[in-house]
Amino acid sequence: MTSPHKANETGTEDGVFDGVSALLVAYIDNAGLARSKVLPRARLDTAAAGGATISRSVASLLAVDDAVLSTPNIDAAIGDLRCIPDLGALAVLDAERGLAWAPSDLCRLDGAPDPICQRTALKDVLATAEVAGFDFTVGFELEFSVFRGTKDDPVLAHAGPGYGNTPFIELEAFHLDLLEALAAAGVPVSQLHPEYGNGQLEVSLEPADPVTAADQFLLARLVIARTAQAHGLLVSFSPVPVPGEATNGCHIHLSARRDGRNVFHDPNSPTGIGVAGEHMIAGVLAHVGDTVALLGGSVLSFTRLRPHSWAGSYICWGKGNREASVRYMAGQQGREDAQANMELKVADAAANPYLAVAAFLAMALDGVDKDLTLSPEITVDPDTLTEAERAERGVRTFSPDLGQALVALESSELVTRTFHPLLLEAYLTVRRHEWTTYGRMVAEEVAARLRFRY
Ligand code: GLU
Ligand code: MG
Repeated sequence: MTSPHKANETGTEDGVFDGVSALLVAYIDNAGLARSKVLPRARLDTAAAGGATISRSVASLLAVDDAVLSTPNIDAAIGDLRCIPDLGALAVLDAERGLAWAPSDLCRLDGAPDPICQRTALKDVLATAEVAGFDFTVGFELEFSVFRGTKDDPVLAHAGPGYGNTPFIELEAFHLDLLEALAAAGVPVSQLHPEYGNGQLEVSLEPADPVTAADQFLLARLVIARTAQAHGLLVSFSPVPVPGEATNGCHIHLSARRDGRNVFHDPNSPTGIGVAGEHMIAGVLAHVGDTVALLGGSVLSFTRLRPHSWAGSYICWGKGNREASVRYMAGQQGREDAQANMELKVADAAANPYLAVAAFLAMALDGVDKDLTLSPEITVDPDTLTEAERAERGVRTFSPDLGQALVALESSELVTRTFHPLLLEAYLTVRRHEWTTYGRMVAEEVAARLRFRY
C-alpha cells in the first residue's frame, strides 16, 4: 500500500482521480446498512457534478433485508436521485488496483440535497451549532466480531482472554494489515485491541469534525471488512452478533469548544464540567429515551441494552461510569482542556451514523438552549440501586423494545423539529418493518439472520 491519496476541494481539476480506475460512491441507509454505487474510470470526469444515479426509494426505503418499502409520500416506483460524492473526503482503498471511495450526499436532479439525505441532516444540525458558537468534534469506537468459517457456519475467531495477548497474536497478521490499511485509507486510529468478548475486536478512531467522523466510521467499516476478507475472516458489526456473547457497541464521544475553551472542563465548577457542558449532558439525558431508536434502531439494539454489559442501559450520567448512558470523561490530569468529553454508550453500529450524531448534537444543543439543569452524578452501577433509589435520583430506563422506542421517537418534539418530515417518515417505515418482521422472533433467529448484514 502507498500513502493516502487525499483529494483537495477542487475536485477533478487537480488530479484527484490520478490512478483511480473505480470509485465507490458510498452512502448508508436508514437501516444502518452501508451501500454504494461504483463509477468506472470512463465516468470519473463527470463524477463530481453527476455522481451516480439511485432511486429515491432505494436510497430511503430499503429495509435491512432488502424489502423495498413505500410510504404515502415516497412511492417505491417513482423518483430518481444522484449520489454526489464528496471528493474532499476521497480515500484510496487499493492503490495498485486504483480503487477509491468517497461518501456522498443524496441530491435531487437540480443538484440540491434531497430532504431524505441523512448526511445533509447532520450538516443542518451543525449549522445551528455554529450559530450557537460551538465547535464540535466526534470520536467513534467501533466494536465488531470476527469469525472464521462460512456465513452458514461461523466460528468466533478468538476465545479471549479479553484485551489479551493471545487473541492479539492469534490474529496478529490481520491486526497489522488492518492498521496499515486504515492508515493508507487516511483513517486516523487512536487504538486497536481485542475486546472483552470472544471473537471481539475494537478500533477507536481519532476525533474529527462530526461529518468527517461519520464518513470515517463508514470508511473504517469497509476497510475492516476488506482486510478481514483478505485473511479469510468474516466480520459482523451487529449489536448482538451471537446471543449470550458480548455485545458490539459503537460508543460516540462528543467534545465541544466555545471561545477556545472546552465546555466539558471547568476547574472552578463543583462537577469539573463547564456550564454549557452541564447543559449539554442534561439535554442528552432529557431526550435520549426518545431518540434511542436513532442511536441503534435494530430489534437487536434493544437486546443489547441490558445491565452489566457496559452498554449504558440506564438513563443517567457518571464520571467514568460504564453503566450510565452518558459517561463523562474528565481527561488526564493536566490535559483536561484537550481531552474532557462526554461519551454516549447506548449507540451501536445498526444506526445510521449521520442521524445518530445529528441526534446527539441536537439533544446537547437543546440542553443549552433551555438551560437544562444537570441531575446529580450516579457514582455506582445504577443496577445496584433499588427501584425507589433510582426513581429518587432520576435514573430511568429505555423502552424495552424497538416497537415502543419508535412510538417515542415519532412523538418527540425535538426529533420532529430537527429532522425533515420525509426523512423521518422513511426512517420510521424502515424501522417499523424491522419491528414487525423480527420483533417476535427469538434472539438466536434474529441474530443469525442479521449477523452479516452490517
Ligand atoms: N461491548 C460493550 C457494548 O456493547 C462495551 C464495552 C466497553 O465498554 O468497551 O457497548
Ligand atoms: Mg469497547
